[in-house]
Amino acid sequence: MSLRNRTGLFGGTFNPIHCGHLRVAEEALNQFGLERVVFLPTGTPPHRKVDEGVSGELRFQMVKLATEGHPKFVVSRHELDKAGPCYTVDTIEAMKGLHAHGVAYIVGADVFSRIEIWHDWPRLLASAPFIVAPRPGVDLTVFAKPPFDRAEIHILDMPLVPVSSAEIRRRYHMGLSVEGMVPGVVDRFVREMGLYGVVRTGSRS
Ligand code: ATP
Repeated sequence: MSLRNRTGLFGGTFNPIHCGHLRVAEEALNQFGLERVVFLPTGTPPHRKVDEGVSGELRFQMVKLATEGHPKFVVSRHELDKAGPCYTVDTIEAMKGLHAHGVAYIVGADVFSRIEIWHDWPRLLASAPFIVAPRPGVDLTVFAKPPFDRAEIHILDMPLVPVSSAEIRRRYHMGLSVEGMVPGVVDRFVREMGLYGVVRTGSRS
């Protein structure tokens, strides 16, 4: 089925947002003719802790900075502002009501391959088409097999981008360069706010 003019929903912790995320969003937009991509930073993720306690508000601000000026990237507070756990399946249902041309959910192959730990995954798989980004170490043939055969899945045709937030956090802690991994505006924000063990340099409050 064509995904043309649908809204891509891109959920994540974005701790911090990095060039891999932006590349995935751009490829999804272009390869499927999406109308826009909505980034949905999580508040309190149901099945994982947010490392280093970086607040949703700060992660949201970093996504805002990284996407500012892009005509088809939007950032939503939907998950952030929800009190308590927020499940992807509920987010998708809520977003369907807001986007007349329908939605598609963008997800990395690593996260999607663990579908069975997601809340109400059978309903989730049926709730929207999925755009899956390849990720190092994940065999994409699993998505042709049960339980994924019940979902509409589109694999992004793109090279592997070997960048992760965990590696970026590690590099900040070690005082190593993150050049080319994180947009410059995000790197400046991290340094000004003193996130990820970086000695604070700035005056933002
Ligand atoms: P962490 O290293 O902390 O686990 P992450 O880099 O996986 O974080 P998330 O914010 O958890 O980043 O990811 C949001 C979504 O983006 C997930 O679906 C994830 O699989 C996907 N994603 C993140 N980085 C990449 C990448 N380099 N290539 C493809 N997909 C990615």
